[in-house]
Amino acid sequence: MEEKWLVGVDLGGTTIKMAFISLEGDILHGWEIDTDKREKGLHIPAAIAASIDQKLEELEQTKNRLMGIGIGAPGPVNEKDGSIEGAINLGWGKFPLQTILERETSLPAVVENDANIAAIGEMWKGAGGGARNLICVTLGTGVGGGIIVNGEIVHGVNGAAGEIGHITSVPKDGARCNCGKQGCLETVASATGITRLAQAELSSSDQPSLLRDYDAITAKLVFDAANEGDELAKRVIHEVAFHLGLALANLANGLNPEKIVIGGGVSRAGDSLLAPLKREVARFAFPRVAQGVEIVPAALGNNAGVIGAAWLAKEKIMNKSIGQNGVLGIGHGS
Ligand code: ZN
Repeated sequence: MEEKWLVGVDLGGTTIKMAFISLEGDILHGWEIDTDKREKGLHIPAAIAASIDQKLEELEQTKNRLMGIGIGAPGPVNEKDGSIEGAINLGWGKFPLQTILERETSLPAVVENDANIAAIGEMWKGAGGGARNLICVTLGTGVGGGIIVNGEIVHGVNGAAGEIGHITSVPKDGARCNCGKQGCLETVASATGITRLAQAELSSSDQPSLLRDYDAITAKLVFDAANEGDELAKRVIHEVAFHLGLALANLANGLNPEKIVIGGGVSRAGDSLLAPLKREVARFAFPRVAQGVEIVPAALGNNAGVIGAAWLAKEKIMNKSIGQNGVLGIGHGS
């Protein structure tokens, strides 16, 4: 019998990344489509289904080839029925994603939060390297997180576990966060946050800096300037590393993870961020926790999400359904 494929889907506010993935976690065919946000995102599941059909046709395959779909979406997930509690980026209020996607595709589907599928992808095929206790943090426009304990994503009581970006890092007079709080880690360790910190440094001192040559500061410019020895930029990076290191060390003290995986666009700064970050984590972590943990850059880049989604499809649909019902049933977690 020919080997079955998994479908991994990483649903974002602008694009939907999709892939057919082998049971071993290798991407066989990857592609992406634009996110159709018309009518409050109502057409998204149908667009995913149509795109899968079209790709199968291109590859001269039938749907029998596919075992199931794993999908990551930007919002808290209700584990019981695979619905999204609300995804502002997509225009969704409470949205029964699993039910609609299963109806549109005639395939079993598993729904998870997008930061969590990226964490699972890194655990399975990326920087996790077999570790079953890891913290993943994604430093992009915002700061996302996923926590895996004993190989399982931690969801918490109502699906909001792993919100590392909203750990309060600046308790006094911190910048306003999108979540409504002030001083969240996201306000200092995201690309937006780094830019803001640099602008504050530039306006509060007369110190010469390469950054003064630019009209618009970006996080990348700050890292580039720091790499060229710019003192003001280096101070900004150290402030970022301090807040990120403090938050991650405190989280690690509670979880004693084997790996902390750092991903997202900001992590491309490489050692100019990782080296000071490692020092700060070592400083703030309980000694035995610090000994046990390794801080590593993410390895899968933008593919972490689809790979993690496929892993979920494989685990939840294949193993659990066969194990519990004796047949390949639809649905999970009940
Ligand atoms: Zn926040």
